[in-house]
Amino acid sequence: MLPPERTPRQRIMELLTGTRLATHQLAQMLGIPERQVEDHLMHAVKSIVRDKTRRFILEPSRCQDCDFVFRDRRRLTRPSRCPHCRSEGITAPRYGIDSVSSRSGRVDSKGSSQ
Ligand SMILES: [Zn+2]
Repeated sequence: MLPPERTPRQRIMELLTGTRLATHQLAQMLGIPERQVEDHLMHAVKSIVRDKTRRFILEPSRCQDCDFVFRDRRRLTRPSRCPHCRSEGITAPRYGIDSVSSRSGRVDSKGSSQ
């Protein structure tokens, strides 16, 4: 029997582990539309919230002109313009997954569950 094919969601979670990527980068790596990446990402976040060995990281969007950081933004998509200076030069938010060693409370970037 062949091993089961990885779903895009599993692949997204693998790709994000230990690094930070924007949705357009994931879309490119997986060869699927960015909109689908966002959809998978939302579900991946839900499963990671329940998983105590992993933590979902969100690096917020930032205005390239005035350095305004979109900290309160909960949506996964990129804001279109800065509320501060109205610039449209907004960086894409980036996502990542960090492994958490629950026993010691330390963050282990190698992610071995031992
Ligand atoms: Zn700005």
